Amino acid sequence: MPRPEIAARLRDHGVQPTPQRLEVAEILLDRPQHLSAEQLLERLRANGSRVSKATVYNTLNLFSECGLVRELSIDPSRKFYDSTTCTHHHFFHVESGRLSDIPHEQIRIMNLPELPAGTEQESVEVLIRIRDKQ
Ligand SMILES: [Zn+2]
Repeated sequence: MPRPEIAARLRDHGVQPTPQRLEVAEILLDRPQHLSAEQLLERLRANGSRVSKATVYNTLNLFSECGLVRELSIDPSRKFYDSTTCTHHHFFHVESGRLSDIPHEQIRIMNLPELPAGTEQESVEVLIRIRDKQ
């Protein structure tokens, strides 16, 4: 995606496109993918970027707050940022730590429990943990 397009996308979500934010967005929003902050930082470094770790974390928080990416907390030590923001599900390969998408229409959810009083359903996301066969 060309830079002006990325900048426009950031502005559409109310984010001021600073040079550092553009660098992060350029990598993360490039294609459908799931990256942790550490993976993103590695890619930035490989591209010769000098964006600080703190800036990367702050930028990812900002992006997820404004809906540019989706934050996926697989477990407390593994937080991923998903460039696909529409409803979908995931396979999580526990050995490799890799996430892959399952299209929304491939899973049909039935027999959900009654919601607690005074609440409404926002979304249901399925995470299927997988491992290689022994
Ligand atoms: Zn995803």
